[in-house]
Amino acid sequence: MALPQAWVDYQLCKPERCADGICPAVKICKRKILLQDAPYEAPYRLSEMCTGCGECVPICPLGAIYLR
Ligand code: SF4
Ligand code: SF4
Repeated sequence: MALPQAWVDYQLCKPERCADGICPAVKICKRKILLQDAPYEAPYRLSEMCTGCGECVPICPLGAIYLR
């Protein structure tokens, strides 16, 4: 069965609410699955190699990342 993948809810994500516009969820992902092209831009999931570890979920202050 496929592992759950991290998704970004773009209705909830507000990069300007994160320090210097840097997404902490991108920083915490050891596998570099989440990327941000530039500060103040919303992150996105680069690949299907997400392990579903969930570490990126609670670090978003706006609850914009979820697993499914
Ligand atoms: S669930 Fe884990 S592997 Fe997947 S994007 Fe989040 S931190 Fe990275
Ligand atoms: S931590 Fe949450 S609100 Fe901030 S940029 Fe990342 S996904 Fe968006």
